[in-house]
Amino acid sequence: MEIVHISAECYPVAKAGGLGDVVGALPKYQCKAGHYAKVVMPMYETQFLQQNDFVVDFKGHTQMGNLHFDYTVIKEKTNKLGFDLYLVDIKGLLDRERIYSYDDDTERFTAFQIAVVNWLSHWQHTPDVIHCHDHHTALIPFMMQHCYDYRNKLSGVPAVLTIHNAQYQGWMGWDKSHYLPAYDTWKTGLLEWGNTINPLACGIKCAWRVTTVSWSYMDELRWNSNGLEALFEYEQGKCSGILNGIDNEVWDPKTDTFINHHYLPRTVVSGKKKNKQEICEQFGLNPQLPLFAFIGRLVGEKAADILAESIRTCLYTLEQQCAFIVLGSGDPQVEWELQNLNGHFSGQYHAFIGYNEALSHKIYAAADFLLMPSRVEPCGLNQMYSMRYGTVPMVRSTGGLQDTVKDMGDWEGFGIRFNHASVADIHYSVTRAISVYKDAKHLLWMRRYMMQIDHSWEKAVENYTQLYQSVN
Ligand code: ADP
Repeated sequence: MEIVHISAECYPVAKAGGLGDVVGALPKYQCKAGHYAKVVMPMYETQFLQQNDFVVDFKGHTQMGNLHFDYTVIKEKTNKLGFDLYLVDIKGLLDRERIYSYDDDTERFTAFQIAVVNWLSHWQHTPDVIHCHDHHTALIPFMMQHCYDYRNKLSGVPAVLTIHNAQYQGWMGWDKSHYLPAYDTWKTGLLEWGNTINPLACGIKCAWRVTTVSWSYMDELRWNSNGLEALFEYEQGKCSGILNGIDNEVWDPKTDTFINHHYLPRTVVSGKKKNKQEICEQFGLNPQLPLFAFIGRLVGEKAADILAESIRTCLYTLEQQCAFIVLGSGDPQVEWELQNLNGHFSGQYHAFIGYNEALSHKIYAAADFLLMPSRVEPCGLNQMYSMRYGTVPMVRSTGGLQDTVKDMGDWEGFGIRFNHASVADIHYSVTRAISVYKDAKHLLWMRRYMMQIDHSWEKAVENYTQLYQSVN
């Protein structure tokens, strides 16, 4: 099957979170399974762009409202990522260093989507599936079906939408409706949700199938989805959950190029010890204490706003029994709170504010426990990475965390689960972790067990193939 993934992120080209990891891995494993998967994304000014060779695949011209613009589609020359990668260059809009957080993100991603649909309409053939990811690409199914210039060529091509995060919906005012290529105005209602143009809602209505990245998250969206609850209830017939995999080639403590001490389940104790020693030296932490890590975006969804208080409470009340390391960036207030704790608990706390891929790998390998108190977690990759590295996940029971982590109190449990994103629940979980840390035999069993759990992409690829087949 020929599958065209369209996304704002794709690791290692450009990544801000889990979306990038998924779009960097799923097509690779689809190709390995015999499909012809490709990725189309904006051409940002990233290192990957500078360090690799590209050829021009197509040059086109189109418009967004009154803005007429040229676009160029370039293709990476060597199939380096294991699939064909196409970058869409729109001068002045997409060619910037960051992926998001510009005032004109609406214009940037709308122009990107228009350019992609325009390009697809020039193809000699039609692909088997167009697979869109999140709100940045969710207007594409509408454009394919209801824009006059494209519907003859593209309305018969199945469009699938995967929702990695329903909190962000790409809302835009009706004053921007003229950005869209001329469309059948009888279909205006498809764009609307809550008196605005809501790209994610529009994608849910127009895509042939909608998936989310875990089963539990699919269920949760019917009662908690930032205003889309009724829509998920109504459209549930075409919605399903497919749990993400992880890229076992990138995330492997045996070969990981970011870590200095490689290990296997058999050598997990000595391997982790050396990695921990190194991180503790680098950040002035006491390697004798159980090391708790948090890695992620510092936002409310991840409950990062209660992180500083939770850590402070643990460090005050559980004197000299634990150490914490935080890697993250996001809300400036949270960044400030976490940074501010640096230096207050000698040997027991360090926060690194920023995005650092290499350091994240080192921390997964070094830490004893990984804390994820998320309020919302559509799938969550961190807990799966931590399991692969023998690091015990401590998670709130929600979304994909609930689907992937079994509490150590349950049969064959290997992690720690709690119910509330609260200081009290985090504190209690830390005390449970400290007691299992003292039980070396149990801890070793948990580590070895979780390291051998199969979270590979092969299963997910099979599920996506069945989904594509159901619409072909
Ligand atoms: P989300 O997509 O909601 O951010 P996921 O758990 O699905 O959450 O994916 C997060 C990904 O981003 C993981 O690969 C994690 O290691 C990475 N990550 C998040 N913040 C940072 C950071 N500050 N530095 C390095 N990697 C990070």
